[in-house]
This record gives sequence, structure tokens and C-alpha cells, in this order.
Amino acid sequence: MLDKVVIANRGEIALRILRACKELGIKTVAVHSTVDRNLKHVLLADESICIGNAPATESYLNIPRIISAAEITDATAIHPGYGFLAENADFAEQVEKSGFVFVGPTADVIRLMGDKVSAIEVMKKAGVPCVPGSGGPLGEDDEENLKIAQRIGYPVIVKAAGGGGGRGMRVVRKEEELLRAISTTKTEAGAAFGNSMVYMEKFLENPRHIEIQILADGQGHAVYLGERDCSMQRRHQKVVEEAPAPGITPEMRQFIGERCVKACLEIGYRGAGTFEFLYENGEFYFIEMNTRIQVEHPVTEMITGIDLIKEQLRIAAGRPLSISQEDITITGHAIECRINAEDPTTFIPSPGMITRFHSPGGMGVRWDSHVYADYKVPPNYDSMIGKLITYGETREVAIMRMRNALSELIIEGIKTNVPLQKDIMTDEHFQQGGTNIHYLEKKLGIGGHSS
Ligand code: ADP
Repeated sequence: MLDKVVIANRGEIALRILRACKELGIKTVAVHSTVDRNLKHVLLADESICIGNAPATESYLNIPRIISAAEITDATAIHPGYGFLAENADFAEQVEKSGFVFVGPTADVIRLMGDKVSAIEVMKKAGVPCVPGSGGPLGEDDEENLKIAQRIGYPVIVKAAGGGGGRGMRVVRKEEELLRAISTTKTEAGAAFGNSMVYMEKFLENPRHIEIQILADGQGHAVYLGERDCSMQRRHQKVVEEAPAPGITPEMRQFIGERCVKACLEIGYRGAGTFEFLYENGEFYFIEMNTRIQVEHPVTEMITGIDLIKEQLRIAAGRPLSISQEDITITGHAIECRINAEDPTTFIPSPGMITRFHSPGGMGVRWDSHVYADYKVPPNYDSMIGKLITYGETREVAIMRMRNALSELIIEGIKTNVPLQKDIMTDEHFQQGGTNIHYLEKKLGIGGHSS
């Protein structure tokens, strides 16, 4: 097993990684910014090092400082968590070149999947269904681009190959808007991602977001761990996630899961990963792969009983996958509500001191969070302060438990989105299941989608 792991992240995921390391008998090093000295995992880690000031560029995004921390603590590996440097191929490369294990896939695979055009190419080859589209980058030839859009059929969406976080895309509904949309997206993508390559896809009007969790050891073994439904979104940010996805049959799960596994084997994937799909009229359409652990991984853990972070660490230690596809069974239903420090109606972040705090509990309730009473939420990072996860033998039970758990959760001193989550849990359409990615924004009266 790995001897010592640097946790190159903060907040709830850093704590989650710390807990997994402890269970495996791995020593831990917390690296943190000046405002994060009192993070729970920093206080619990074997060693901790302050790597810089509050702005992420000076700390959690500063590659030399993180690698130096690994050097001076004589660590074996670096776990990037999610966000920050988790999908930065240069970081993965420098970690390995410096003699440490990167808990994740190789830099080459991160690069391949980070470019959406090359990712789609690989997926198509492996038989993973993709959104009908240009099948490659758009060139300079206006006539040709107009023809591609005609063939796909309007509306289309122009997307940056290097895009991320819901940025760098534009929906085009009419032919006369196409050429301008392409040139604007190119310019924006060049400025934002340093890569002006764009491609075109059919714009699906009312899809759901369904994703497949996989694990692969990079030694010829890969498995899928079912799907998650993350359609409850606002501005492309997931708000509620659940597993399994309502209405997905075991046959559909197997069909799409097997194709994801095939793709993993073809690219020599190593670690935990997620294939994201849009799902409409019974069909899956691949949009991108995330080469890291995801925020919503706990719902998969609850229904499979598999600890994904421990599996990541075992794989990083060079162990072959200990589970085969037959070992994976899906039991019950799990829901996750992201708890954010923000105004529940305006969504304006609400950092500050938590004056009073009580966590919920009881059977089937899991609270993954780093906060406590007297903890000060800094204004410098993402506003997510915890994840409330409930499990039940049926979806109805999981929802009832979530309602109870939300009513037990007390966070005072700052505003949180708990009222919004309570509202979603009693929403008639959510209770029926299977709402699409626009549902929440329509419910909130802020309709319209990516443009
Ligand atoms: P990012 O890497 O920025 O998250 P994605 O490719 O995953 O980009 O797309 C983000 C979101 O944009 C999707 O969840 C969906 O809401 C919307 N989207 C992307 N492609 C399409 C499409 N072809 N049709 C409809 N919506 C799309």
C-alpha cells in the first residue's frame, strides 16, 4: 500500500480522502492556504503544511509548492481530489516526474479526455454513443460549416474543445446565426482556455444528465458501478444527485456500462472516472469524461457498498482491481443534496462564521462535510460546505429520510441553500422522478439554457 499521501485539496473532499487513507493505514499530509489552517482535515492529518495565501493560484493551484510539500514530507503519492488541479495533465506529469504517484490516470489520458474532440473520437471507436455532430473540429470554410449544421439539423450547439464548467458553448437555432456563433465561440475559447478549437453537436432540447461511474486498474481490468442522475442543475451546476437513475433498466445499464468499460480498456484508463451522458428518448449521448473522483461519488458508494476513494488509492498503489463486474450489485436508492453557503433565492455566496451547528443522523443518513460550530467559511473558494446523503431500500424511503435529515440540519450564522433543498424534496415532479436538466431553472422561474 502507499505509505504517505499528500491531499492536494481542501474542504469536504480533503476530509473524505483523509478518512479513506486512515482506514488503509496510510499516513496523510494536508497542504492548505493561510485561511484554511482550521479545516477539519488539517487538524486531523499526520502532518500539515501551509503552502500559500488564500487565492487558489497561490496555494491549491500552485504546482511547485504542492510538489515541494510532498518532497519535504517524504510522501509517496498525491491525491488531487476534484476541481483545482485534478484534471490538469501538466500537474499529473510533474507529480510523476518528481517521483510521486499521481492518484489518477496518466497525464496522456487526462490530456486525451480533456480535449473533447479527441475524447469523442475515442468514444466513437469504442462504440460509446455520442451526440450527432461534426465529428471533429470546425475549419475555416463557412460553406462547409453551414453544410455540417444542415446535416445535423437545427438547433445545434457550438462547443469549445477545451471547454469546461459549462463555459464555452453557444446554442444556434437559426442558420443565419451560425457563422457569427462559431467565430465568437472560437474567440472566447481562445481567450478562456488557450485553445480556440470548436466543434458542433445537435442541441438536445430536454435531456436528462446521466453518468456512469467506472473503476479501472490500468492493467487490463475495468468495471462499471451503475449510473447517477444529476439532472437537477442550476447554471450547469449540479444541485441534487441520485443513484440509480429513475427509469433506467438493468439492460440499459449493462448496454451503456459495457461500452464505457471497453473505452477504458482501449485508452488504458487507470483510476476512478465518469462518463457523462445526455439522455433523451431512451438514448444515451456521450458528452465528456471526467478523469477524477466526482463530488457526487457517495450515491454510488451507498448503492454498491464500494468505497471509491479506497479503490482509487489501491489502484494507485499498483494493485489490480479486486472486484469483478459480477461482484457489483446495486441495492436500494441514494440521494445527495449539495449544501452550499449561499442565499437560497439569489444564490449569492454567503461566507462567514458558523455560529451554531448540528448535523443530522439516523439510519441511512451520511453527512460528508468539514464544517463545525465556530468554523469560518472563507470567501475565496467554492461555496459548497457539505453533502447530505441518504440511503433507503426504495427511492421513496431515501426521499423521506432526506426530508427528515434536512429538517435536522442546523447551520446558523451564514445563509445556506437548505430551504431550496427542502423545496426540491417535496416537489411533485422530483418525487415522480426523471425530470430533465432544465426543470430546476424553470421551477425557479429563471428559464433558458446555455447560450
Ligand atoms: P462542461 O465540460 O463545460 O461541463 P459539457 O460538455 O459537459 O461541458 O456540457 C455541459 C452542459 O451543457 C450539459 O450538462 C448540458 O446541460 C449542456 N449541453 C452540452 N452539450 C449539449 C447538447 N449537445 N445538447 C444539449 N445540451 C448540451
